[in-house]
Amino acid sequence: MDVIVLGAGIIGVTTAWYLRGKGHNVRVLERREQVGLDASFASAGHVSAHLADPWANPTTLNTLFTWLFSNDTPLVFRPKADIHQWSWLFKFLRECPANRYNSNLINLANLGVYSRTALQSLRAQTGIGYDEAQRGILQFFTDETKLQGAAAAARRLAGSGLRREVFDAEQCLEVEPALHSLRDTLKGGIYSRYDETGDAFKFTQRLTELACEAGVQFDYGSTVQRIQVGRDTIQAIDIQRANGQTESCKADQYVLCLGAESAPMARKIGINLDIYPVKGYSVSLPVREGAQALTMGLTDAVQRMAFSRLGNRVRGAAIAEITGYDRTVDAQRCQKIVANAQRLFPDALDIEHADYWAGLRPMSPSNLPSIGRNDRYHNLLINAGHGTMGWTQSCGSALAISDIIDGRRPDCEFPFIGEIR
Ligand SMILES: Cc1cc2nc3c(=O)[nH]c(=O)nc-3n(C[C@H](O)[C@H](O)[C@H](O)COP(=O)(O)OP(=O)(O)OC[C@H]3O[C@@H](n4cnc5c(N)ncnc54)[C@H](O)[C@@H]3O)c2cc1C
Repeated sequence: MDVIVLGAGIIGVTTAWYLRGKGHNVRVLERREQVGLDASFASAGHVSAHLADPWANPTTLNTLFTWLFSNDTPLVFRPKADIHQWSWLFKFLRECPANRYNSNLINLANLGVYSRTALQSLRAQTGIGYDEAQRGILQFFTDETKLQGAAAAARRLAGSGLRREVFDAEQCLEVEPALHSLRDTLKGGIYSRYDETGDAFKFTQRLTELACEAGVQFDYGSTVQRIQVGRDTIQAIDIQRANGQTESCKADQYVLCLGAESAPMARKIGINLDIYPVKGYSVSLPVREGAQALTMGLTDAVQRMAFSRLGNRVRGAAIAEITGYDRTVDAQRCQKIVANAQRLFPDALDIEHADYWAGLRPMSPSNLPSIGRNDRYHNLLINAGHGTMGWTQSCGSALAISDIIDGRRPDCEFPFIGEIR
């Protein structure tokens, strides 16, 4: 079958890879000059199946209103005259009660584990390297009350198959000695042994090289301008190239993977996707020669920052701004990440050579992505809305799409959208 994939972030590239693996002819349309330059560029690097908490949860409700209207909190809301922003926020609030949270959490974990397994077999099959580490992820606490809350949740969730080990401070320092600066203040942590870390951008680039070798066609500088529709099918995709030329591209099936741009594009053909951009920031810092810096994935639960060791760099990421499609990098926000990194790993990082970045998470109110076939246009599939977890969920979401396109039910307990036929 001929398939066109719209968008070459980590989701579009993995989708192309798995579709090609099932024997389809795949063409990828991407507006930028190469893959992975939007949300997939400098994520925190966590492949986190077991520590993936939906942002909409009962405790969020308590802090949300203080956070929303302040400028100095992990979550910032700048109200816009945009009905989609307000509607998204309303739906987010509806996902906060405990019953919704629990169901979303289990679905996220199912997809996360399915995806991590797919990533592991892709790695074994191809030998792909991306500064990966399989040392687990530790969420650490310097606040006893917060630790107790997280520990109680970890014990409660053990029955649902989520493997979260509760560690005391000594155990935390054993798995990550680089946290020694917190020796006097560390209360403990939640350790997810089987989670991993790695550079999502490097992964996306290397997988693209492998996909090209396997015959996938990547069209860069090709901006999707219009999706031509018939009564119940997609007829063609109109693109404009960097030199201004236009073209209508046709295939048997189409997969929408436009990240944060997925919802506005889908709206043009009457499809409502609950995806809104939530801006996040990251900082990449070289590790000084011989210094003791972290070696695994870390989450500072009190400061709400995630860290990874990616080769000879440390990446720190944080902050959620619901401010529309603005991608501007606010240096002050990045400096906060640098300050916390310095506090945690004093003298280990070369802050003079810090790289600042901001990206738009394609976020759904429930944290669950939309994966599956569209009900209205039967040759259109959606793989979008991965929000905070796109790197974690990429291989699994793409593998699932490659099954669904062939009429097979993916081997994962997850609320895939649309009919499987
Ligand atoms: C600060 C931060 C930290 C994060 N940390 C983690 C983490 O630790 N673990 C994790 O699992 N996830 C993390 N994420 C989330 C993850 O990065 C995203 O979910 C993921 O990158 C989304 O991938 P995507 O392919 O859907 O979107 P994108 O990477 O944005 O790709 C969409 C592509 O579509 C293209 N496009 C858009 N419009 C058009 C058009 N009209 N025509 C042609 N092409 C178009 C874009 O150029 C882009 O290449 C983080 C995100 C941020 C911002």
